[in-house]
Amino acid sequence: MIADKHRILVIAPHTDDGELGCGASIAKFVEQGKDVYYAAFSICEESVPEGFPKNILEIEVKEAIKKLGIKQENLIVKKYPVRKFYSHRQEILEDMVVIDREIKPDLIFMPSCFDIHQDHSTVFEEGRRAFKKSSILGYEFMWNNFSFETTCFCVVNQQQIDKKIEAIEEYKSQGHRFYSTKKVVTGLATYRGLQISEEYAEAFQAIRWIVR
Ligand SMILES: [Zn+2]
Repeated sequence: MIADKHRILVIAPHTDDGELGCGASIAKFVEQGKDVYYAAFSICEESVPEGFPKNILEIEVKEAIKKLGIKQENLIVKKYPVRKFYSHRQEILEDMVVIDREIKPDLIFMPSCFDIHQDHSTVFEEGRRAFKKSSILGYEFMWNNFSFETTCFCVVNQQQIDKKIEAIEEYKSQGHRFYSTKKVVTGLATYRGLQISEEYAEAFQAIRWIVR
């Protein structure tokens, strides 16, 4: 079923959301030779911890996607203000329409409908408007989910989990967050793997699946 998906686009409201939500699956798809693109909509300049330059997340995302094997030219970075996406809802939608036209993705990874972060839910709403021609999987983000619907699992291996952790570790400015630690990332992948009798998996909400 994934064989007809060649162009994959990861939508990250903020840099590092893509790595946390589907980093191991990205590593797997890159290994399979698929074209993977990464679009981040904010580098959170307003909330960078003291001691780091304002554009630190733009620098860190470039290193993080390198660990997953995504080409630098496949990175798109927008600079919407963090926690204020809703005020820019229409511009975000228009950006997505342009990205859709240029990349023509078969498969999109983005936040799920269960994600309560205000920017993530704006991206979910606009994303399903913009990408009508693509299959869409909503990634899991424990910190922002009160519940989650595991309607899709992607089996991943130890090496792909290691790449996900290495990518997340590139975000030195975000190192204080518990949900991005190796313990939590490995624990969740083990739990999701257990549910399908595999060593590791990432779980997704199947928002739309198109078979061509
Ligand atoms: Zn985020």
